[in-house]
Amino acid sequence: MEMDKRQKKDLERLSGGRIGFDCPMAQYTTLRVGGKGEALYKADYDELQRVIAYLNKEGIPYFPLGRGSNLLIKDKGISGLLILLTGSLAAIEQERRNDLTILAGAGLPLVDLMTHCRASGLGGLECYAGIPGTVGGAIAMNAGAFGKEFGSRVMEVHIITPEGNLEIRDRTQLRFTYRHFEMEKGAVIIRARLKLDKESKEIVAKRIADYLKRRKQSQPLEYPSAGSVFKNPPDEYAGRLIENAGLKGKRIGGAMISDKHGNFIVNTGGARAKDILDLLYLAQAEVKKGTGIELEPEIKIIGD
Ligand SMILES: Cc1cc2nc3c(=O)[nH]c(=O)nc-3n(C[C@H](O)[C@H](O)[C@H](O)COP(=O)(O)OP(=O)(O)OC[C@H]3O[C@@H](n4cnc5c(N)ncnc54)[C@H](O)[C@@H]3O)c2cc1C
Repeated sequence: MEMDKRQKKDLERLSGGRIGFDCPMAQYTTLRVGGKGEALYKADYDELQRVIAYLNKEGIPYFPLGRGSNLLIKDKGISGLLILLTGSLAAIEQERRNDLTILAGAGLPLVDLMTHCRASGLGGLECYAGIPGTVGGAIAMNAGAFGKEFGSRVMEVHIITPEGNLEIRDRTQLRFTYRHFEMEKGAVIIRARLKLDKESKEIVAKRIADYLKRRKQSQPLEYPSAGSVFKNPPDEYAGRLIENAGLKGKRIGGAMISDKHGNFIVNTGGARAKDILDLLYLAQAEVKKGTGIELEPEIKIIGD
């Protein structure tokens, strides 16, 4: 259901004009596909609580968006409000040298976090270098790499609840599982306190470079993608199952199951969301037929 005129006006006012309508979502996702977003709001802290409370009062759907690096937005687009965190909510807000923690805005790109860690000699996050998401997306997805999970570094999460209240949850209240962070529907992460290790700048720089090299060797980074499409089933790798099903290099329209990494579906140019979805369903069906294993998507599929 689309917003009515009054709701659009109210949101323009509440958001201080930081709202756009009919936004092509291909520009906001790393897969570079998807229809239009009905409305997109570049949020800063001052008015976000009021906007969220309003959206819930009016029953308008909304969706926090990071870099769209784990998203497939369908071709007919998505109704409601997409919320991008900007300004102070996309920056490092505070660093405490004494306890080696930093308070990072959820909209902060991980690449900027890496730059900060490298320049300050702060270690512990190097394995996430090359993940093209934000701090908020890495928490919401409990992003993982090289046997480690982002959640293990999160000491505190600041959340705006659907009622529009700010809640600060400490480590004892947080529950991270495989590619999942437990949170009530409609909550928006706005900041997190991350724990780091003191390291030399040279070591941090070297580790980041090594991890980036390893990614380049195994992932098809030359094409737009959303990273791993499926979660790994227990004691298995989704990529290997897809490869064993003979699907590497399989194409539908402009989409292809990567010939380099079976768990990546790439946009080789001009793909529609439907092409990617059709490949995803095909991989699920073929793996199920051959092994009985049901692959569960890791990417979030949204829109119509
Ligand atoms: C080349 C490539 C490599 C990748 N490698 C990895 C990898 O090694 N490991 C891995 O785990 N993932 C990987 N990914 C997937 C993706 O980058 C991660 O899942 C990342 O953490 C998503 O962050 P994002 O900011 O882009 O989130 P988005 O894709 O924008 O959103 C993902 C989900 O998080 C939610 N979300 C985002 N921000 C907030 C917020 N502030 N509050 C509440 N919810 C929020 C969204 O609503 C959505 O449900 C890769 C992707 C690519 C394209």
